[in-house]
This record gives sequence, structure tokens and C-alpha cells, in this order.
Amino acid sequence: MNSKKIGIVGLGLIGGSLGLDLYQKGHYIVGISRSQETCDRAMERKVCHQASPDFKLLNDVDLIFLCTPIGSIVPTLETISSELSPSTIVTDVASVKGEIVQKCSEIWPNFIGGHPMAGTAFVGIEAAQYNLFKNAPYVLTPIENTPSQSLECLKKIIAQLGSIPYITNPEEHDCAVAWISHLPVIVGATLLESIDSKAPSNILELAQKLASTGFKDTTRVGGGNPELGLMMAQYNREAILDSLIKYQQVLQEITDLIRQQKWNALEDILRKSQASRPYFLKD
Ligand code: NAP
Repeated sequence: MNSKKIGIVGLGLIGGSLGLDLYQKGHYIVGISRSQETCDRAMERKVCHQASPDFKLLNDVDLIFLCTPIGSIVPTLETISSELSPSTIVTDVASVKGEIVQKCSEIWPNFIGGHPMAGTAFVGIEAAQYNLFKNAPYVLTPIENTPSQSLECLKKIIAQLGSIPYITNPEEHDCAVAWISHLPVIVGATLLESIDSKAPSNILELAQKLASTGFKDTTRVGGGNPELGLMMAQYNREAILDSLIKYQQVLQEITDLIRQQKWNALEDILRKSQASRPYFLKD
């Protein structure tokens, strides 16, 4: 595909990682950060060719990725929209889509919601890394009026990241990610919170020394960026509440089985969960 001029607003983990890959694919990248220091570092790291806190840099780009925190996506688009050419395609990367897609499409008809399903526990420009999105799902949520040529263009760009594109609507996206992304963030946080900090210090120190791969796997998302977890809960509240209620039911069922020493029934549940994991995760 022809190289494009691409704008990235918010040069953190996701924005910075998009910039690293798309720069390397031959696109011309312009970055926007609120701080000049981040702009300088982004150019030094080859995240973008040009970077500035000034939104005017976006006035002739083909495509913009909005990569700010969830709560800042709509206000950011409101601020920049007067600087943009009508042909500019705007997409975002926020982990929640319903309200954001609705509001952004009203502000900018050439808007397509997006969500790369990849991340780490770190934030900011230094956390940006190459190939973060490779082999990871990348969800796009066009709506009825989304221009089809804009969708095709965006699909080609995300294919260059090595991502696997999925097209769905914002509501279905939010229900599905509540189960596989947002609930695990809350549950991961509760695992960390459930460690009894009043336990004898020698036992706490032993637990700290013994914590290894199992603890790492089960708490990674719960120990990540607190601002992201908070905004997932605020912006996908209904779907998270539904999944938390279901989670509490299952937890109560398991608690009762252990209290009543119903080991066969507990084994049935654990066998069922062992069998269901490969349905969601291939390796
Ligand atoms: P991040 O590393 O903190 O980056 C966000 C960047 O946005 C910051 O570096 C900051 O850059 C800028 N920013 C912060 N507050 C802002 C505000 N009020 N207004 C304008 N810009 C602001 O976070 P991230 O993990 O990249 O997350 C960014 C987006 O990616 C979020 O919408 C999140 O839902 C989505 N996402 C995250 C993950 C993940 O696992 N982390 C995965 C998929 C999608 P400056 O200070 O330089 O302006």
C-alpha cells in the first residue's frame, strides 16, 4: 500500500508502539504529546518523524490514531476536529467502544472505533515497543454510516502491524471484552488485595520470595495501570457488573463445595474449566 501520513495523539504505550511499527513500515508519522520532552524522546526513539504539543501538525494527515486515556478520547477529538481536513480518517484505540464510538462519530463522520487487544503493565513513551500488536486481535467497530473506503484503508494499515482484524459492533465488543479483559483486570486486582497484609511478617516475606510464574500469570493485568482499570469500570459499567455478578455466583458455589468437602463436584468444575480454556486461548 502507498505510504500515508499518520497522526498519533498520545505518545504512551499504545500510541508509541503504533508509531514504532508504522514508522518502520515507511509511513510518515506525526505525534502529539502534551509535553515537549515526550515529543523529543518520541522522535529520538523513531516513534515519529515530527512531534509537537501543537495540534496544527495534524492538518494534512490521512489517518489519526487517538491513543489517549479512555476519558480523554472524545474531548481530544472535539479539540482537534477544527484542525482536520474532511478526508482524514480518525480511529481510536480505547478499550471500551459503546459511548466513544457514538460520540466520536457525531463529531467526525469519518471515524472508526478500534481496539488492539495487546498491552503490558507499563505506561508512557519508554514503554513503547516494536511488534506489540503482532498476531494479536485488532477489533474495528464500524457503524452503519462508516465510509467503506475508510474501513478498507484502516484494515490495510492494521494488517501491516501483523494484527488479526475483527469486525464487530461497539455493543458486542463491550460485552465480550467485559468477560475476557475487564473482569480479569478486576479479579487480578482482588487477588493482590486478598493477600492478608496483617499476616506474620515471616510468612509474608516467604510468600514474596516464592511468588513465581503462576502468580505472575494470574495477576499481570490486575497489577497494571490503575487509571486504565478505573476507566474500563466507568465506561463499561453495565457489562462489568453483569460479569462480576456471574463471577461471584461461581465463587460462592466453589466456596460452598470446599466448605462442605464436596470434592467430586469441585473436581467437575475444575475439569470443566480446564476444558474451556483452549476454547478461548489457542496456546
Ligand atoms: P499511556 O501509556 O498512559 O499513554 C496514554 C498517553 O496519553 C500518555 O502518555 C499521555 O501522553 C496522554 N494523555 C494522558 N492523559 C491525557 C489527557 N488527559 N489528555 C490528553 N492526553 C493525555 O496509556 P496506554 O496504555 O497507551 O493507553 C492509551 C489508550 O490505549 C487507552 O485509551 C487504553 O484504553 C488503550 N489500550 C490500552 C491497552 C493496555 O493494555 N495498556 C491495550 C489496548 C488499548 P502525554 O502526557 O505525552 O500527553
